[in-house]
Amino acid sequence: MSYYDDVSVIRGVGEETAQQLAVLGIRTVADLIEYFPYRYEDYQLRDIHDIKHDERVTLAGVIQSEPVTRFFGKKKSKTTIRILVGNILITAAIFNRSYVKNQMKLGETITLTGKWDQHRLTVTVSEYKLGLQNSNELSPVYSVAGKLTVKQLRKLIYEAIKQHGDAIPEWLPVDVLDKYKLMPRRDAIITLHYPKESVHVKQARRRMVYEEFLLFQLKMQAFRKMSREQASGISYDIDMNKVDAFIDSLPFELTKAQKRVVSEILQDISSPLRMNRLLQGDVGSGKTAVAAVCMYAVISSGAQAALMVPTEILAEQHLDSLTELLEPFGVSVTLLTSSVKGKKRRERLEKLATGEIQMIVGTHALIQEEVIFHKLGLVITDEQHRFGVEQRRVLRDKGEHPDVLFMTATPIPRTLAISVFGDMDVSVIDELPAGRKQIETYWAKHNQLDRVLNFIQKELQKGRQAYVICPLIEESEKLDVQNAIDVHAILQSHYQNYKVGLMHGRLSSTEKDEVMEDFSTNTTQILVSTTVVEVGVNVPNASIMVIYDAERFGLSQLHQLRGRVGRGEFQSYCILLADPKSEVGKERMKIMTETNDGFVLSEKDLELRGPGDFFGQKQSGLPHFKLGDIVHDFRTLEVARQDASELVRTKAFWEDGSWALIRNYLKENGVFDGEKLD
Ligand code: ADP
Ligand code: MG
Repeated sequence: MSYYDDVSVIRGVGEETAQQLAVLGIRTVADLIEYFPYRYEDYQLRDIHDIKHDERVTLAGVIQSEPVTRFFGKKKSKTTIRILVGNILITAAIFNRSYVKNQMKLGETITLTGKWDQHRLTVTVSEYKLGLQNSNELSPVYSVAGKLTVKQLRKLIYEAIKQHGDAIPEWLPVDVLDKYKLMPRRDAIITLHYPKESVHVKQARRRMVYEEFLLFQLKMQAFRKMSREQASGISYDIDMNKVDAFIDSLPFELTKAQKRVVSEILQDISSPLRMNRLLQGDVGSGKTAVAAVCMYAVISSGAQAALMVPTEILAEQHLDSLTELLEPFGVSVTLLTSSVKGKKRRERLEKLATGEIQMIVGTHALIQEEVIFHKLGLVITDEQHRFGVEQRRVLRDKGEHPDVLFMTATPIPRTLAISVFGDMDVSVIDELPAGRKQIETYWAKHNQLDRVLNFIQKELQKGRQAYVICPLIEESEKLDVQNAIDVHAILQSHYQNYKVGLMHGRLSSTEKDEVMEDFSTNTTQILVSTTVVEVGVNVPNASIMVIYDAERFGLSQLHQLRGRVGRGEFQSYCILLADPKSEVGKERMKIMTETNDGFVLSEKDLELRGPGDFFGQKQSGLPHFKLGDIVHDFRTLEVARQDASELVRTKAFWEDGSWALIRNYLKENGVFDGEKLD
């Protein structure tokens, strides 16, 4: 029996449970034992003077009133009881448990756990016990999905640890544990599931977070080392005369920052080291022009270049602007997305393989599957960080060793970028082209919609266009979110003299193209859309961006959306419709109105909400950690990064038995194939 056996060896795990566990990513005994709580229920009695609004608390008090129960419908009820806690009279609200009435007697003591509402002096009770109960116990809460309950999961983890706890292996050598005073792995894991005190959780977490970050950093740095050693990049002979001529042909002069960044990148391209570079530049800073220059440089040396973007709309826009810029220089540019099918597709693939096509623009798929290049020299990815170790491996396996440039408008504080993206080099365009008008941002409450509509009307009369962004496609009563379809109908009936387009994720890509085309040719004057227009889209005549329920978006996303306007010569406006309830929410709306600087926003939002919220969970492409938090555990991440970079250069790491498990992990994650190293 092994620690890495299928989870079905655990008592109580049948086929169905195994399936439910798989949904959580739990397949082996190890997965189960290393599935950690995301928080702990704390039943320690609290002093009523110390508790905060919205906090989950346990309080004890004396019952002062007969319980009163009101019923709603058949099954729903609310029972309220007045309780004296210390010298404060509070209300306990208990939902759907009308039977409690019979258990509560005036003058008796009761212990309640639930959520505290500071304004109403009310605790919404989730659990209660009669009498005074003071328990130090911390009870782990796991995230679950489907039918699986936390209680069941607790039981399964208990079983797993009972059967296999002794087999939990140590991954780190003793001297590392000593150096940082880290708990042994087994103790740490067991403590996370069954802590006696919260200080123990802290220590156990510290140990596991260090390990998690170290593995992550090792993965990146070992990969970097391997790919450098196994195949050094190609050094390209760039024809600088041609490149300069191309730069001169652009309809504008490059900004100082663009020039600097271009030269940083061209230096990498002409050196034998493989480039792995992150290019950050705020929305509108002119990353596309930089990309065009660099791709042209590579092509001038006889190689091919690929530009990857997250959506088809964006791919087509880029195709158009690149074709315009580059075809006069004899570069053949083409598009490859999943909608390019049949004969067309075959032809393009063939021409790529022979080198007849020099530049290709497309979505993710273009570096995978059946795509074969003649000589791929440079891959640029725009507006996404998802191009990770995996994709680089795909390329390597195909024998391609291109330089890689990631472009992003998501401003990541430099320190964070270095840690999160391993040893990637970072270039920053920290300057906008001259003459840009600052976008004016206003925050309006939803009940001021009339004024907003009038404002839009005025801009439409001037000949401008407007975007209106709604968060979700379909009505969801639960979330009470404006839906794009409704908003579209409302606006169309409000603006009878104008045409309103509708864009959302459920449209086919042809439909999306049509909607986009209509908007960019001013056939429609207003575009109601979900966030699919977020990245890259360029319609210079649009001067207004209205964002419904703006508090639901991360600051970075709002900033991206705002960047869709202000792209032409016209004064542009961003209007945030939001009624945020929390202070943080209000603060965030205020910051948006105060600054147009993406970096300031990113620092602020990290401060206010942490990285998950900032980057937006789905789109972030940031690595996902089980326990670690790249903002709060930033110091640990830094230490892990330094340690990893030192380790991959030491012989002991590659040879000593004490690092064997970690080496094995790196192997299994495809960072290298064992033979070439051992
Ligand atoms: P982003 O960095 O957001 O991708 P783009 O590359 O789309 O920005 O550029 C935004 C707009 O600015 C485009 O219309 C582009 O033609 C223009 N632009 C880029 N560089 C310059 C420059 N140096 N001077 C003037 N306009 C520029
Ligand atoms: Mg762009």
